[in-house]
Amino acid sequence: MRDLAVRRLVIENAYIAPVVGEEIPSGHIVVEGDRITAVGPGPATAVPEGAERVDGAACLATPGLVNTHHHLYQWAAQGVTPDGTLFEWLAASYRLWARMDAEVVSGAVTAGLAWLAKSGCTTSTDHHYIFPKGRGDLFEAEIDAARRVGLRFHPCRGSMDRGRSQGGLPPDDIVEDVDDILRATEEAIRKYHDPSFGSTVRVAVAPCSPFSVSGDLMIRSAELARSHGVRLHTHLAETADEDEHCREQFGMLPAEYLDGLGWLGPDVWLAHCVHLTDKDVRRFAETGTGTAHCPSSNGRLGAGIARVSDLLRAGAPVGLGVDGAASSEMTPLAGEIRMAMLMQRARYGPSALTARQALELATMGGARCLGRATEIGSLEVGKLADIALWRIGGFHAAVDDPVVAFAYGQTPPLARLLVGGRTVVEDGELRTVSDTAAAEAGACAHRRLLAEA
Ligand SMILES: [Zn+2]
Repeated sequence: MRDLAVRRLVIENAYIAPVVGEEIPSGHIVVEGDRITAVGPGPATAVPEGAERVDGAACLATPGLVNTHHHLYQWAAQGVTPDGTLFEWLAASYRLWARMDAEVVSGAVTAGLAWLAKSGCTTSTDHHYIFPKGRGDLFEAEIDAARRVGLRFHPCRGSMDRGRSQGGLPPDDIVEDVDDILRATEEAIRKYHDPSFGSTVRVAVAPCSPFSVSGDLMIRSAELARSHGVRLHTHLAETADEDEHCREQFGMLPAEYLDGLGWLGPDVWLAHCVHLTDKDVRRFAETGTGTAHCPSSNGRLGAGIARVSDLLRAGAPVGLGVDGAASSEMTPLAGEIRMAMLMQRARYGPSALTARQALELATMGGARCLGRATEIGSLEVGKLADIALWRIGGFHAAVDDPVVAFAYGQTPPLARLLVGGRTVVEDGELRTVSDTAAAEAGACAHRRLLAEA
């Protein structure tokens, strides 16, 4: 149940970048309950009784950031194969991941989401696809941890059924049976998925990748998701090795393969999509298929640079993701705005992605990928009060344009982070769980996983 206990708050004197609509050089935002009830220039005209007043002088207000791809459990498994390709890194990581239990997941999710909150994230997905037998309820553990940290959460029930003996990449003993996967996924939807406006938990169905999942599981997962009205997520076209694997095993490239399985559509968002053809870009736009762009992870694994500017030009939804902490160690979500901008420009030239477009990826772009464009992603009356307030005074004040100051340089300190009007971060410190407790939970999860391995 959502805690709406009389939240009333007014931010004034802030530079407001609402993402949808005109920017306001000095304005106010009024929050009542979990919604935004006013946004405009100058001081608030009607301040609700008993409202907390937040002085936003020398601050930039943006929508809370949306993280569209993550594997939170990997907080416990960072630093593995620091110089390997995706397939080398995966081969070394599977053994370690197979030893995780609910306690490892709980600690890793607590630290991972706390870290995201401290970088301006108000909504995060998590793609969890390894469920070792007899090691507790991992899905429940992550949802409980997300509730404690206080972010809006989209856990994706992942899965793998194609082990090495079937031509897949993972070892046979960490894949699951198709019927077991579908049963557990349906149970997760029934138990946790809340489709209501302002929901804090929405479940998605997420087989892992073309090289770890059978076509049968992909098709039946799509049927299951669509029968319950939940979204579909998977990895796609991350590396050249994956292209080669798909050519060998299916006689076609990854996006073509997915298209044939009925996996492109407005209810689907896909992680990475680095290696797309012109035809794939057109199909993504035609079908409304979303992309979770994870620039740091793509850089870390040497995967390549996604065709973000081409996808945006074609009209396809694109959001940002940090990806798992084992392939983009401690990446802050706000930092991905800068990374996305720099990578596009390095490849396509200096006008390929502006600071404002990059901010839009991290907010409305993510909201579109998750099917929540009417609820989050912009600062508009009637939307949820998911707001990040950044301090752009001090060193950042040497840049006149606040959005450029925010996107180009080091991420500015966070003055306040609201999720549904509730303060999750204040003056850079967590208010729901303590910074120290969240960091220790992550370190404990790491030690426990290594001890088990
Ligand atoms: Zn991933």
